[in-house]
Amino acid sequence: MATAIYPGSFDPPTEGHRNIIERGLRIFDRLIVAVAVNPLKKTIFTPAERIALLKEMLGGQKNLEFDTFQDRLLVDYARSKQARVILRGLRTVQDYEYEFQMTLANQRLAPEIETIFLMTESEFSHLSSSLIKEIVGLGGSGKGLVPPIVEGKLKEKLKVR
Ligand code: ADP
Repeated sequence: MATAIYPGSFDPPTEGHRNIIERGLRIFDRLIVAVAVNPLKKTIFTPAERIALLKEMLGGQKNLEFDTFQDRLLVDYARSKQARVILRGLRTVQDYEYEFQMTLANQRLAPEIETIFLMTESEFSHLSSSLIKEIVGLGGSGKGLVPPIVEGKLKEKLKVR
């Protein structure tokens, strides 16, 4: 059984994340979406809120699980879940540089774990969690970029009317 971990901040989850998750589910037998908890990183949503939003968007599908991990290497977390694959999405050349470095580091730490990338679909190529926070924070519409539930919660957090 091929298990993959899809790690990320998901602050908040977007349609770009959903796209990667849905495509990942077609490839792997079991997919674990793992919210990385980093107390040093400033986030809008708590880990529990991010998981709740992900569940609202994608919950109820068999073979899809949601979890958090903190204070440990991603590869050690993957090993603890018997996962041989780390799934990541790729959008831009900037993504590539960062992902290349992380993948090489993880290969060194855990040669038995492969990182597999899914290329973004063109409509999501410029979509990121930071961009959506900026758009909604300044009163723009998140339609098509995040589901209404995420847009609503973002507006509450950012005090947008
Ligand atoms: P991180 O802080 O780990 O980069 P993110 O939540 O920003 O967390 O992203 C998690 C993963 O999802 C990364 O692999 C990122 O490249 C991918 N991703 C984010 N947005 C998109 C998108 N619009 N299309 C494809 N992949 C995406």
